[in-house]
Amino acid sequence: MQSHLHLDHTGAIGNFPNATHVVQRKEYEYAFTPDWFAAGGYIRKDFDKPNLKWQFLELNYNDEFDVYGDGVIKIIPTPGHSPGHCSFLITLPNSGSILLTVDAAYTTDHWEEKALPGFLASTVDTVRSVKKLHEYDDKYDALVVTGHDPIRWGEFKKGPEEYYN
Ligand SMILES: [Zn+2]
Repeated sequence: MQSHLHLDHTGAIGNFPNATHVVQRKEYEYAFTPDWFAAGGYIRKDFDKPNLKWQFLELNYNDEFDVYGDGVIKIIPTPGHSPGHCSFLITLPNSGSILLTVDAAYTTDHWEEKALPGFLASTVDTVRSVKKLHEYDDKYDALVVTGHDPIRWGEFKKGPEEYYN
């Protein structure tokens, strides 16, 4: 699953030959024809490769896409950071719900509506996507993981207990 196609999210595309890369069609198309201010965010050779398997989603703003049809991984359109950005709601039986905002909410300050990130494609869409994700958080009581918050990152459990020993 590709939340979006910015360069810090695409380096491994093509490293998994059997993978299907799921992305919103509008993000894929924008990555080939970005506006001037966003062009530095995309490295075309990362995603413009032969023999990649893509699955393009054509989601409306209020749609969500249940990847396996079992409610475990839901893709939520959250435009603003980029035109076709998506966030992910992961719901596991023993862990509850985890809301991966990815870059729809950069940091805790952004999540708490105290600051906007330095890069965005649409300010209005960015603000509304955070509001939308808050509604998911309220509904699912999720653990919220923002995309680029080095302070919060240190607080998350990242693997089984053995990982820490
Ligand atoms: Zn990004």
